[in-house]
Amino acid sequence: MTILLGCIADDFTGATDLANTLVRQGMRTVQYFSPPDNDVVVPEADAIVIALKSRTNPVEEAITQSLDALQWLQKAGAAQFFFKYCSTFDSTPKGNIGPVAEALLAALKEDFTIACPAFPENGRTICYGYLFVGDKLLSESGMENHPLTPMTDASLVRVLDAQTKYSVGLVDHRTVAAGPEAVRAGFDTLRSEGHRHAIVDALSDDDLFTIGTACAHLKLVTGGSGVALGLPENFRRAGKLFAGTVADQLPAVPGLSAVLSGSCSQATLGQVAAMQRSRPSFQLDPSKLAAGEDQAAEALAWAVPLLADGPVLIYASAAPDDVRAAQDKLGREAAGALLEAAMAKIANGLVAAGVRRLVVAGGETSGAVVQALGVDGIRIGPQIDPGVPWTTTMGTTTMGSTTMGGTELALALKSGNFGVEDFFLKALDCAP
Ligand code: ADP
Repeated sequence: MTILLGCIADDFTGATDLANTLVRQGMRTVQYFSPPDNDVVVPEADAIVIALKSRTNPVEEAITQSLDALQWLQKAGAAQFFFKYCSTFDSTPKGNIGPVAEALLAALKEDFTIACPAFPENGRTICYGYLFVGDKLLSESGMENHPLTPMTDASLVRVLDAQTKYSVGLVDHRTVAAGPEAVRAGFDTLRSEGHRHAIVDALSDDDLFTIGTACAHLKLVTGGSGVALGLPENFRRAGKLFAGTVADQLPAVPGLSAVLSGSCSQATLGQVAAMQRSRPSFQLDPSKLAAGEDQAAEALAWAVPLLADGPVLIYASAAPDDVRAAQDKLGREAAGALLEAAMAKIANGLVAAGVRRLVVAGGETSGAVVQALGVDGIRIGPQIDPGVPWTTTMGTTTMGSTTMGGTELALALKSGNFGVEDFFLKALDCAP
């Protein structure tokens, strides 16, 4: 097996977002949740994404994990590498993006890369190196209050410069608008001036395609899923990627359906309310879990007899005031951990009862569910809504301690703010 593009993502649902972009541009893509063991048979693919959880880890840990992933991708034959992070950067001046990018450059014996988190379709644009969310500077968008990665400076040049040993330059929008040759010349100028990183402006998908074309010769590209838009065409132009490839085909996965929601993001709250209008639902309560009530068993006893009539919803999602009250009482991490453990147990129980199509809302929640189900890797299929594809599991899935010997599950893993209001039933309507 020889892959073309090897990708390392610093979180879970972000990895799936990148994989979704690559599939839509014609690359057959699979995603693993850690570098696969040597005995794992990797299916034919043009791109592989290794999803790490390295965004807020101690920097040395993030570097080690990223270098391990790089080494595996190099062995798999990748010719180019992509380091994926969030379109709102989600990395303070002490963050991991710069150090990981420099470690990857050093391992590849390269001295230049770009940093471009722009995702215009979702309102993230970069102008003169400043990141905007819609019409607001990143630092005035609400991201300045993020609990883990507060973004108080919208200048990506300054933020990345504070993270890196080497200096950071800018390829501004006038250069991007002049086309790929101009952007390539911009890279050469910055490199000759001793810059090792370039923030690149992008206001539209056209800009991202231009930047992608200009990056054909770079061993390492870093950014959001948007800047990956333009990379597959480079492989086609070079005759390495077949133009007629059908990249989003998944095997059929018949079986019962369910939705698990642990996300409290605005979009998810609307999606939970929408599904409740037509399907039965069960709410988990962190206080009851903390008091020792086995809510996972209660939820399963409630759900299993209903499954034959159609999908059910089990959710922890709650409005901000309720979440705050639970966090004040139990602690932020403890409340999250209790709910994630319950969701994990419920996911196992649902699969044991015949559920094969599962929609999960929430990045951390998806992580807990995928881990509980023992999923090593997923094949990426068609998009449901921007940033969220259907996927099917590959290889062995363990259910608790029981090995299911290759039983495939269809999973839709949705990060908090993605998806239209009727996302849950819309997704199940088009499940593989
Ligand atoms: P998102 O993608 O929207 O950020 P995540 O699943 O990543 O969603 O994070 C949501 C976190 O909030 C999880 O740890 C989840 O267990 C926790 N959570 C969910 N519901 C509640 C609640 N009612 N009270 C407190 N924490 C909650």
